[in-house]
Amino acid sequence: MHEVALANDLVEQILSSVAGRGVARVLEVDLQVGVQRLVVPEALRMAFEAAARGTVAEGARLEIQEVAARAVCGSCGFEFRPDIDCYLCPACGRADARIVEGNDIILQSLSCETEES
Ligand SMILES: [Zn+2]
Repeated sequence: MHEVALANDLVEQILSSVAGRGVARVLEVDLQVGVQRLVVPEALRMAFEAAARGTVAEGARLEIQEVAARAVCGSCGFEFRPDIDCYLCPACGRADARIVEGNDIILQSLSCETEES
């Protein structure tokens, strides 16, 4: 369950980005998850809920947007969308692909409630 480690990192990232901004509660978290990371959204949601407990992010809604993989062939420069287990270049047939997208987990945006409101 690498989702637990991911969720812990995510909560840490959220807490450091809202620190000192008078945030009372984080309402929503928009996350882009590359398919290459093989994250199970439900597992990540559960792990997030547990990791956020007792912080300002407790009870926040987690919006997970999956990002498809994109690869560039190192031999011929062809750009393609690889399958999870197949990185052969459809143009030249070599296995020399570099994943350029779909490998990251990006915290897109946060909706927060400030102490004022
Ligand atoms: Zn190629």
